[in-house]
Amino acid sequence: MRPGTVVLPGGSEQAVWSEDEIADFDGVDTTEGEWYGIRTDPWPCPACAEVFEWVTGAHFVIVAPSKDDLLMIAAKCKEIGRNPRIVAYDDGLPAMSIFQWQALGRPVHGMRRDGG
Ligand SMILES: [Zn+2]
Repeated sequence: MRPGTVVLPGGSEQAVWSEDEIADFDGVDTTEGEWYGIRTDPWPCPACAEVFEWVTGAHFVIVAPSKDDLLMIAAKCKEIGRNPRIVAYDDGLPAMSIFQWQALGRPVHGMRRDGG
């Protein structure tokens, strides 16, 4: 387990990224091919309160080549009242594919307790 990793209630393990890790990650080029994202009501990042109108992981919009790949996440968002709509992604925000997100341990933006 890498430093900064937390185990959330429910047993799902997510990586917690610092500002530096967010800045260093390149994500996916959504100008190539078809991508879908999950549009939601404005929602603040739990760590820094920056507001996004897309479902994000560590400030990257989570995108997929097929709407079906996003259904599980959209269902979760519906449960917490985010009003999700799966739409073609045409925004200019940095994005990462759902496959990258899963492979990286489903990162979220977070603050480390040790201040590092
Ligand atoms: Zn944040």
